[in-house]
Amino acid sequence: MKLILLGAPGAGKGTVAKMLTAIDGSVQISTGDILRGEVQAGSELGRKAEEYMNKGDLVPDSLIMGIMEKRLQQPDCAQGFLLDGFPRTIPQAEALKELLARIDITLDMVVSIEVPRDVILDRLTTRRTCANSACQAIYNVKSSPPQKEGVCDKCGSPVIQRDDETVAAINHRLETYNQKTAPLVGFYEKEGLLKSITGTSSDAVVNTIKSELGM
Ligand code: ADP
Ligand code: ZN
Repeated sequence: MKLILLGAPGAGKGTVAKMLTAIDGSVQISTGDILRGEVQAGSELGRKAEEYMNKGDLVPDSLIMGIMEKRLQQPDCAQGFLLDGFPRTIPQAEALKELLARIDITLDMVVSIEVPRDVILDRLTTRRTCANSACQAIYNVKSSPPQKEGVCDKCGSPVIQRDDETVAAINHRLETYNQKTAPLVGFYEKEGLLKSITGTSSDAVVNTIKSELGM
């Protein structure tokens, strides 16, 4: 399947994407994960991105498009992909449309995951992430803590609160989402690709996506 997952930070895009990869071998492409990997590796791209990310600001479109142009042409994308956290602005969506036409890829659907703001805020402040850039497993101190406090179940690395998950940075990210990313819902509605799904259960979101795709 070739999908874009839209939704505010904390809406569950990453969780839904991971569940969908298990269905048909499509790959999850998270620009946030890629960027955090670059920051940890200390690459030039990572150094450029880090200051924006720590403030909860968006990384410039040109950097993101450079990453995605390469990523979407890697062989593992042929089977399908789930775009998680990209596109995030109208210019990114326009550039993606042009890129997909050029490399002859057709999207199946754009899913907008709608979750109430109080649920989002609660999830983001209680979210913890594995510090190992190759893992980045996600935990929640209330609903799904690691078995041993502060230690990743999957790889044993420390489980930490991201620098951009302080209350101030979270509020700023939500504001940025409303201003810059929410307009993509209208963009993809016009393209005839949009499916909005309201729901706080990732299982239910995945089931709706499967039935929309006739799976
Ligand atoms: P969340 O969806 O929970 O906000 P992500 O992991 O998707 O978190 O992104 C973390 C940060 O990485 C963003 O706040 C932003 O700085 C940067 N980022 C990720 N994807 C993009 C994108 N498509 N365009 C611009 N910046 C991005
Ligand atoms: Zn881990």
